[in-house]
Amino acid sequence: EANAQYVVSLIRSIPDFPKHGILFRDFMPVLSDPRANHLLNEALIKALPVQPDEFDTIAGLEARGFLIGPPMAELTGKGFVAVRKAGKLPPDTYAEDYSLEYGSASIEIERNAIHKGERILLVDDLIATGGSALAARRLIEQAGGIVVGCSFVMELNGLHGREALGLDAISSLMTMP
Ligand code: IMP
Repeated sequence: EANAQYVVSLIRSIPDFPKHGILFRDFMPVLSDPRANHLLNEALIKALPVQPDEFDTIAGLEARGFLIGPPMAELTGKGFVAVRKAGKLPPDTYAEDYSLEYGSASIEIERNAIHKGERILLVDDLIATGGSALAARRLIEQAGGIVVGCSFVMELNGLHGREALGLDAISSLMTMP
């Protein structure tokens, strides 16, 4: 409807960024527009892949997961935990390495951030191959948590991110090529 179209109209597509052949989807203009920002948070809550009483905490991926996770946590009465890129957190941390198209990356979470059996909703701006979210899921499980669902703003078509992530409870507000 009109509100959804308004939000979608603010998503910027940048060809050949960060490298040739990649069409980069940028949702930052949605956040800088007061009306769209409000609608985005509302839509993320409406689209939750699990009910608020089915998760305890929201975990967001650095960096854009930090922008949508805290408002979602506030609106659902939960806390927020940061999944950070390696080297940013003081000890002690759990770490998870994963491979990227070229090379590898590592993410970390504070050792005492998640307790055993804590049910986590994982959030990020975009799912492409699902590699980043899967690494975050493994990291949270290493810390004793259970990822019960994942919320994304955008989902790229044809990259089988959902299959890679291996969860049923996944929501995205829009799919795009
Ligand atoms: P994946 O690991 O292949 O699913 O890629 C998703 C991760 O890369 C997320 O953390 C995204 O923030 C980032 N990402 C990949 N493509 C884009 C894009 O077009 N726009 C914004 N972020 C992207």
